[in-house]
Amino acid sequence: MAGVTQFMSNGSLRLHRHDLPDGLSLGPLVAIDTETMGLDPRRDRLCLVQLSSGDGSAHLVQIVPPELGGRGGDCPNLKALLADPNTVKLFHFARFDVAMLQRSLGVRVAPVRCTKIAAKMVRTFTDRHGLRDLCREILGVEISKQQQTSDWGAAELTPEQLAYAASDVLHLHALWERLEALLRREGRLELAQACFDFLPTRGALDLLGWETPDIFAH
Ligand code: MN
Repeated sequence: MAGVTQFMSNGSLRLHRHDLPDGLSLGPLVAIDTETMGLDPRRDRLCLVQLSSGDGSAHLVQIVPPELGGRGGDCPNLKALLADPNTVKLFHFARFDVAMLQRSLGVRVAPVRCTKIAAKMVRTFTDRHGLRDLCREILGVEISKQQQTSDWGAAELTPEQLAYAASDVLHLHALWERLEALLRREGRLELAQACFDFLPTRGALDLLGWETPDIFAH
């Protein structure tokens, strides 16, 4: 059964309950972000998954647990996209989202790319790699982080929360385009790709408790 779809006034943001609609195609490169109850992928609940094909519009999937009248991780269309080997998933700080999606939906998210890792590899002149900083400095776009710490577990999300959540995926394609060119320029595209390929494993290690102390630490 297709989820209930709510069309927002600006037409560029669609909220779906439980799953993506049947038959939706978002192209070969999909920007994805999640909103959760907190920053611990082992503890905190997944509340929202935002997706964009890069065309300026966003699809938001609200994940509601069965205890609250929802379908929890029963979202076959979303899971198929996350696991599809022919669809590249583009994140900012993929390590967290990949672990969160892996635990919450039981799906290994791959293949993935991460604008944060890409930025760290080419913008070694700064330690500012937050999405807001990159959008401002690379794209000249201001995004608000005002709703970042709001309650994403609410049954009804506010228009401000939905707009914020969407803004986190609307600029990732443009960022990636710029960062990929810089990775090529600096001869680090291959190294970046190797890091991206490892991210699902890094997420699995985090979920097993090898985050702190890091298994790679001495
Ligand atoms: Mn976000």
